[in-house]
Amino acid sequence: MKNPTLIFAGLGAATLALIAVASRRSPRGSGSEGSEESGESKAGDDWSSGPAYLTLPEDTSQLNRLAVAFQQAGVTNFIPEEFLTLRKWGVVAEIPEEYEDNIVKMAVQAQALRDRVGLPIAVMNGYRSPEYNQAVQGAPNSAHLRGAAADLELPSVHATADQDRELQVDAAKLWLTRTNDIAGLGVYTGGRVHLDVFHPGGLGRRSWGSGDVDGVINQAKAELGMS
Ligand SMILES: [Zn+2]
Repeated sequence: MKNPTLIFAGLGAATLALIAVASRRSPRGSGSEGSEESGESKAGDDWSSGPAYLTLPEDTSQLNRLAVAFQQAGVTNFIPEEFLTLRKWGVVAEIPEEYEDNIVKMAVQAQALRDRVGLPIAVMNGYRSPEYNQAVQGAPNSAHLRGAAADLELPSVHATADQDRELQVDAAKLWLTRTNDIAGLGVYTGGRVHLDVFHPGGLGRRSWGSGDVDGVINQAKAELGMS
């Protein structure tokens, strides 16, 4: 094991091509992301598919560092590139170092959701650079700007409406029970969820969405015996 990080980097590049292709097949996003009160994007996001292939940063040392952190945190079903992709631009971004921890924390929660659902989950948005956030009309103080948020959904080629609902209810269960970790829950039409984690500069506990946010939370409470 002379240089294990190179192995992760290789895996990442191979997986990315698949992610990019999958995203082209599932342009089912519609509707808006949140509201100004939620601190999340009002006009939407990169809901449509982007270029078929992703450009990696020239310097991949951050990706390698994050890959090791993912492994150490028990994140086995996601790679850092998934949380750093600016989908519309087809670019894997570099994130300011001060936000690297946020990416790892967010990935741990995404992994918890993935474990609960038992199905592959696509990261449709993770970190957004300020320029990209403006381009997709994200809210000025979005948690995505600090790598502390992710929009997650089941790839549409696999998902039924029931499974989409289950993903949302499972996300709500995490939001209701992991109250020290997960700050924001967004529930959108089309089966997408937004989660964000507590972090410096964050907006704290809140829920919103264009979807059945109250119904989803009530169902989660009932299934958890919390009602
Ligand atoms: Zn979001």
